[in-house]
Amino acid sequence: MPKYQPYNRRSITRSPYWSKLDPELREAVDLISQVLPFRTNDYVLSELIDWDAVPDDPIYRLVFPHATMLAGGEYQNLRSASASGDAGRLATTIASLRRSMNPHPAGQLTHNVPTLDDHPVEGVQHKYRETVLFFPRAGQTCHAYCTFCFRWPQFVGDDELRFASADAQGLVEYLRSQPDVTDVLITGGDPLIAKTSTLARYLEPLLSGDGLDHIRNIRIGTKSLGYWPHRFVSDPDADDLLRLFERIRASGRQLAVMGHYSHPRELQTDVARKAIRRLGDVGAVLRMQAPLLRHINDDPSIWRDLWAEGVALGAVPYYMFVERDTGPRNYFEVPLARAHEIFQEAYQSVSGLCRSVRGPSMSAFPGKILIDGTPTIAGERVFALQLIQARDAALVRQPFYAKFDPAATWITDLEPAFSDAFPFDLGVTHSSRRPLDLVGS
Ligand SMILES: *Cc1c(COP(=O)(O)O)cnc(C)c1O
Ligand code: SF4
Repeated sequence: MPKYQPYNRRSITRSPYWSKLDPELREAVDLISQVLPFRTNDYVLSELIDWDAVPDDPIYRLVFPHATMLAGGEYQNLRSASASGDAGRLATTIASLRRSMNPHPAGQLTHNVPTLDDHPVEGVQHKYRETVLFFPRAGQTCHAYCTFCFRWPQFVGDDELRFASADAQGLVEYLRSQPDVTDVLITGGDPLIAKTSTLARYLEPLLSGDGLDHIRNIRIGTKSLGYWPHRFVSDPDADDLLRLFERIRASGRQLAVMGHYSHPRELQTDVARKAIRRLGDVGAVLRMQAPLLRHINDDPSIWRDLWAEGVALGAVPYYMFVERDTGPRNYFEVPLARAHEIFQEAYQSVSGLCRSVRGPSMSAFPGKILIDGTPTIAGERVFALQLIQARDAALVRQPFYAKFDPAATWITDLEPAFSDAFPFDLGVTHSSRRPLDLVGS
């Protein structure tokens, strides 16, 4: 029975794989993991990474930091600060690098937090009418960290964790006051990093029914199927987890496992497949979603394989996201025009069962903005866009247009076309650059 064995910046040097990295790669891991969070585990190292293909291997790129995540000058600064032995100078360098990658003032974390009797509801965000997000405190880390993760500030010890809730009491009271809410999305981090008994403390109060009949669907956002599928198969409380999932189903609700899958390789190990089968056995619906990332999955054939293999295993393709504008963004970002091409080419090459997927989608302040295409209309090349999810539900599925810009990577790079403004208030769009605006994992 494999035991979860995580590695951090220090312990990775004792892993049998460390010696496979040449000195330059080791130095990059050592230096950058002082700035950005680093965590991996034995399963990722031994089952997912192809060590013959390092450093270009997509899973290696997904979890190991690289020198080029920082601009050349920044990397050299960090290296000389580290070599100087001057702890104060190193700390200042690290702090300033982090500040330069995170434009999110902490106060904005409260943006989508609802209030009840004038008090903010702990660990809850409510942006779209039907769906409430819940951040259990015990679920705010992950079995490994993705290098692109927009939650990186919380993993390096910034204060976001204070946002999460220790219990479900506030959530339940809030939900009772919100008859329009049908879905609760438990998110993180990765909620399944928590023990089953802890998760049960959060989930059972939602199932008891009292004043919660309007909650029809419980969703759990997780990367555990990719990073630690033993969570569903052989961990000491794996069976308990499945029993808990059965109780959710027995309450008459859908249990939607929102599986974060970045690459088809995450579907290909025996234990990953067994985990998916076990979810099916207890009536959970597995949906797949992930951001499009340069170096990792910026190729239509990768998405084609991800969706086709996922569907064959019983999963439902859900969202392809555009990489958010935080952290080492320059390293991962793909222009919106290219993102659309990749999506379209992949979508054209799969059967209708895979075409439940929507994307590429930007989770921005007004909502989820879908890039529908780059048509030429009345002689002008434009982006055709629509909101597929919006603060203002009246805007959903209304087509709108932006001037074509081959280099644009985010909605804030775009100018309206055929109109003076986007249908939402562009003035507030810039405050969308916040880490907590999108579900985790
Ligand atoms: C994506 C998202 C949801 C869920 O939206 P669905 O389209 O129903 O999957 C809920 N809240 C926030 C803040 C989101 O970004
Ligand atoms: S929250 Fe999701 S994206 Fe971030 S490190 Fe964890 S699994 Fe990766």
